[in-house]
Amino acid sequence: MTIESLIRPNILKLKPYASARHEFTGKGEVFLDANENPFDTGVNRYPDPLQEKLKSAIGRLKNIPTDQIFLGNGSDEAIDLILRIFCVPGRDEIMVLPPTYGMYQVSADIADVQVKKVLLQADFQPDLPSIRNNLGPHAKVIFICSPNNPTGNLIRREAIEEILEFFGGIVVVDEAYTDFCPEATLLPLLEKYENLIVMQTLSKAWGMAAIRLGMAFASPLLISYFNKVKAPYNINILTQRFALERLSKEGEMKAQVQSIRQQKTWLTRELESLNEVLQVYPSDSNFLLVKVRHAEALYGYLSAQGVVVRNRSREPLCENCLRITIGTETENRTLLEKMNLFQNQAPV
Ligand code: PMP
Repeated sequence: MTIESLIRPNILKLKPYASARHEFTGKGEVFLDANENPFDTGVNRYPDPLQEKLKSAIGRLKNIPTDQIFLGNGSDEAIDLILRIFCVPGRDEIMVLPPTYGMYQVSADIADVQVKKVLLQADFQPDLPSIRNNLGPHAKVIFICSPNNPTGNLIRREAIEEILEFFGGIVVVDEAYTDFCPEATLLPLLEKYENLIVMQTLSKAWGMAAIRLGMAFASPLLISYFNKVKAPYNINILTQRFALERLSKEGEMKAQVQSIRQQKTWLTRELESLNEVLQVYPSDSNFLLVKVRHAEALYGYLSAQGVVVRNRSREPLCENCLRITIGTETENRTLLEKMNLFQNQAPV
């Protein structure tokens, strides 16, 4: 199967919008092409539609050429574009491996694309035979989240490679939490598999959730389709500037990751010592999936006390589970204090 045969016919044929800043590539001095206000407000000019400067910085950090990078308004934009590039509404299908990140399903529902669900196994690893059996003729994309949200674990590299080998469609590996276990990234596999898309984000370890900057890495051919379909100026200039500035401080991010990892080890031990806690699952990310005795009641109690965690107990394989982000030491101590108060008054 060729990549082109996976692209929706209307996208293959699409003549994309040529923005003013895109069309002119020389060295201009007087810009009368984009109907902007000529008076300098600091932001009166449209931003670079392909974000070349920012992509160069990201490319240097990740060791990836800029033509293999797409930048989106959060990785949620990349998810949405993937659906629009590959999936014919009302006909095509994606596959997800629950429990997993909820936006794959929501974006598919919006795009009127069917979703096949193949549950992870009890160890939160993919069920390869079942994935194979459930891939119909219209399956276009499989979304794999690694480290997985909400379970926290990495998906085995060998399992993902097997899927890349036997599935003729697109395999998206969502590495939103990769900076908490950077050695496990699948970016080097891009050279080997033309059907692989790796997504990452500045929203987690990099500490920039509010600027909305997500990344997709893939072959130059696949990235050219993202560029065709995306809104012309999808990344605003404030985001581009802020990201560039902070990406130059990789050491700061790494120190914060180190501190979060230490807190995770400590918090895991403290949680395990509570009678209310039945299990803390191993985590390769910056959150813990925690099985407790009374998830609903504990969630309600913590909320009333101003400590907000995520109740995942209605997700498959996550019965009575809360997902708890690793905070600062002070925040983590507050959580433990409230959980202690709860267990001292909860029915056994
Ligand atoms: N993927 C996963 C697995 C996530 O958990 C999240 C955020 N919760 C995202 C993607 C979305 O990230 P962004 O902020 O880049 O849209």
